[in-house]
Amino acid sequence: MAVKRQLSMVLDLNKCIGCHTCTAACKLMWTNRNGREFMYWNNVESQPGLGYPRDYQNMGGGFDADGALRLGRQPSQEDYGIPWEYNYQEALMTGTDPWLRPHVKPTWGANWDEDQGEGDYPNSYYFYLPRLCNHCDNPACLAACSRNAIYKRQEDGIVLVDPRAAAGIAIVSTPAPTRRSTSTSRSPSPRNASSATRGSRRGCRPPVPSSA
Ligand code: SF4
Ligand code: SF4
Repeated sequence: MAVKRQLSMVLDLNKCIGCHTCTAACKLMWTNRNGREFMYWNNVESQPGLGYPRDYQNMGGGFDADGALRLGRQPSQEDYGIPWEYNYQEALMTGTDPWLRPHVKPTWGANWDEDQGEGDYPNSYYFYLPRLCNHCDNPACLAACSRNAIYKRQEDGIVLVDPRAAAGIAIVSTPAPTRRSTSTSRSPSPRNASSATRGSRRGCRPPVPSSA
């Protein structure tokens, strides 16, 4: 089935300040429901760096030269970063702890490479890179989904998850290098698949065609 349109999104990296407002907006819009706590179809990372999830560009996946799916590695929880809270009560209210500190040892996060940069003064640099779904012409996530729960809509090329086909399973396509997880929804309406800018530039490479 021929797709009639292919949408693209252009972002001015010179203007991005890494505020993650786009991440929060996407999260609230699409993955703010049970079972999708760790799904981010949009995130912003700092470059140069290992990105988010950590070192996702070296996790394999995608298509080989013959167009066959290649296996990839599923990122671990540590690769995404374990969410943490701070001891606000003790540090700021009761004064029983002089330090504001996280409850768990942080391992990684979306802007972990913040301010690391490269180069030597006066030519040192870094920049923020928002990554969102490309709605790829040849979506690796779609090819990896064994339940046919992901599809590319004919009229506009948007890549969607059909929650009815995906119901009861956790689709984890980890479409490297973007590593936008797609998952199920009990909602009757289709959901946007995921996000990433780098994916289309490099040919988004999904990994294990899995359902777990
Ligand atoms: S692209 Fe996202 S992170 Fe960058 S400035 Fe806009 S809202 Fe903030
Ligand atoms: S960027 Fe990733 S999630 Fe989005 S359509 Fe392409 S392969 Fe699928």
